[in-house]
Amino acid sequence: MSVEASAVGKCLGCGGVRPDPFLDLGTTPLANSYLKREQVADERRYPLAVCYCPACKLVQITAQVPPEELFTEYAYFSSFSDSFVEHARQMAESLIARCNLGRTSRVLEIASNDGYLLRHFQSAGVPVLGVEPARNIAAEAQRRGVPTLSRFFGPDAVGEILERFGQADVIIGNNVLAHVPGINGFLGAVARCLKSTGVAVFEFPYLKDLLDQGEFDTIYHEHVFYYSLSAVRELARRASLELCDVAWQSVHGGSLRVFLQHPGATPVQPAVGKMLADEEACGLTQPYVYSHFGERVAALREELVSMLGHLKSEGKRLAAYGAPAKGNTLLNYCGIDTSVLEFTVDRSPHKQGMLLPGSHIPILAPEELLARKPDCAVILPWNIADEIVAQQREYVRRGGRFILPIPRPVILDGGRS
Ligand SMILES: [Zn+2]
Repeated sequence: MSVEASAVGKCLGCGGVRPDPFLDLGTTPLANSYLKREQVADERRYPLAVCYCPACKLVQITAQVPPEELFTEYAYFSSFSDSFVEHARQMAESLIARCNLGRTSRVLEIASNDGYLLRHFQSAGVPVLGVEPARNIAAEAQRRGVPTLSRFFGPDAVGEILERFGQADVIIGNNVLAHVPGINGFLGAVARCLKSTGVAVFEFPYLKDLLDQGEFDTIYHEHVFYYSLSAVRELARRASLELCDVAWQSVHGGSLRVFLQHPGATPVQPAVGKMLADEEACGLTQPYVYSHFGERVAALREELVSMLGHLKSEGKRLAAYGAPAKGNTLLNYCGIDTSVLEFTVDRSPHKQGMLLPGSHIPILAPEELLARKPDCAVILPWNIADEIVAQQREYVRRGGRFILPIPRPVILDGGRS
């Protein structure tokens, strides 16, 4: 526990001296802190910058916000995106087959959200337990019949989990590894909750895709870490776990699914060595790659701001589509607010009626896109752009145009270009 969250100025992985940031995104509110109009005056901002530790290869943000401030009333419900629901179904099916899961097996999910994934295991008769720190979301999972502990997973949770559920055959953490400042203690707790023959499966956005595709907007306070496979291997080793397999996934703009086990439980798959060699070859373990990325992000900001400014000067009315957390990094870093974008729309009723943090752009229901007819709408969740364009054919048919901000700002000509 010596190198956990309290170690200011030190690498959260290896405890070494933390280097200077390669990208500084300024001072912004928390990307998930959607707010009501009367809360605007009390909005808090925190510095947001990211650095690379050459000793343990771990990319991390340089200032942490206490997790209690981040996740207790988290507004994200997984079940509101069609593509994530489908991804979850496929993941459950593939794990049931791979690990031969049945009625005597145990599946534990960390950050289980509203039960969007575990319900697929339940349908197959596999006993499950979810752990979800956001109280409102854990309550929603319980209402849906998915057993869920409302607490943070970590060393303190191990006793309760083992007593109530026992060790698990499969432990899943989708988009959770990035969120845990005390990552060494977290993985140690995973090892204690895992059967000797079990496997822990984690999915997280892949650092290589973030760099290749310019996905800087996925950097926000909730995401403490941005992982290469090389960094995951170091962390696993420190927790006495072994990286035994890896597969690339297309979700979230490119993610890795990694498999960890107690050392020697099964043979390590060739995909692991192949990807580690690929990371060495493309410079992912070299500091210069990161400084280049910082320069590219600054150039993207200039390009987007100039494109939107040009459209405004032509008298065009601009809005946005979606209210994902990453959109807030993009808008706040680029200084885009209600003077540029009139409103955004989002399918989640939990976000409708609120304002985006920082930019204070109002979030409306998707029908408002047709009702208010802006000339162009910036797609903030660019990773599901195809899904959005397909749902909004009528907007495009009536002359509306979508703008994709990333990897480079582009106005889509009708459908997806
Ligand atoms: Zn380090």
